[in-house]
Amino acid sequence: MRVAVFSTKKYDQEYLNAANDCHEHSLEFFEARLTEASAPLARGFPAVCVFVNDVVDEATLTDLAAHGLKVVALRCAGFNNVDLPAAARLGVQVVRVPAYSPHAVAEHTVALLLALNRRIHRAFSRVREGNFSLNGLMGFDLHGKTAGIIGTGRIGILVAQILKGFGCEVLTYDVCENSEVEQIGARSVSLNELFEKSDVISLHCPLTPETHHLIDSESIGQMKQGVVLLNTSRGGIVDTDAVIAALKTGHVGGLAIDVYEEEADLFFEDLSSQVIHDDVFARLLTFPNVLVTGHQAFFTKEAMEQIAATTLSNIAEIESGAACQNTVHAAKVFNKS
Ligand code: NAD
Repeated sequence: MRVAVFSTKKYDQEYLNAANDCHEHSLEFFEARLTEASAPLARGFPAVCVFVNDVVDEATLTDLAAHGLKVVALRCAGFNNVDLPAAARLGVQVVRVPAYSPHAVAEHTVALLLALNRRIHRAFSRVREGNFSLNGLMGFDLHGKTAGIIGTGRIGILVAQILKGFGCEVLTYDVCENSEVEQIGARSVSLNELFEKSDVISLHCPLTPETHHLIDSESIGQMKQGVVLLNTSRGGIVDTDAVIAALKTGHVGGLAIDVYEEEADLFFEDLSSQVIHDDVFARLLTFPNVLVTGHQAFFTKEAMEQIAATTLSNIAEIESGAACQNTVHAAKVFNKS
């Protein structure tokens, strides 16, 4: 199938071209993000392939469907950036990569926690400058602390498992039951109990209308003084202004994020020679107890291979007329969340 591949970097092209050895797709790569403005680039293509910050909204879909679009293939698990009801109305199928390497994201989440807690990011710079002072670098033992995991799907359950290995008590909350929670020695609790008892809270639920700003001033108010928050899921789950206010009072003792509400204009680009216009993001970067990575949790060799292989297989299945098990159905999604 002819596929317009958006938001591509050199590494995307490399992995997709390698995976295409098993297919005969015609891949045309665009560096641009797919938005209503860039949609004309993909007119006439039956498939577009997109990533986390492409804007596949009703206007974009309407334009492309009028020019023959049949498939939107996401190179990621999350699908919050696609207007699923509009896609369904326009007869456009949406497919995704539900599981490429949950280990990649789980391991990055724990890397963020360890680095933030033990101030590795600060120690690295200090030591390079010949500053071996320990002032300001004190962390806490994770052993014996309570970790709260929100969302016990593929990634959340792995984070829970790793933190159990560190000797944490692990509390979980999910809208769907997962029998593995008990098997790994974690305890499923109400959201209120998780907020009240956790020393560390890690987010692993999708961004949906229900989870938008799940972490806001009200939920932070329920949390322990000094709670550490981790978000490798989607930026919109956290109300950034509320967290900044709580960082200033010390109610939130640390924040590590791989995702940010307004990341679309920042992440995946080298902006080191430019002024950052997002004052909220710039404020976040001033805190010594905030650690930010630019949506890199998925970025391992294994994950890239799997993403490329699954994406191209999804498109091939749709092309052959077969049912694709990785199709995202609007109705199912909204029932599930
Ligand atoms: P998953 O579908 O396996 O698990 C998500 C879990 O969240 C499910 O168990 C679901 O029942 C639960 N959930 C849904 N609504 C909820 C709610 N209101 N409250 C609590 N739980 C709720 O997904 P996954 O593979 O574990 O991925 C989790 C999220 O991680 C994805 O949605 C995606 O946004 C994010 N992600 C980020 C990266 C990255 O690079 N930073 C990479 C992959 C995935």
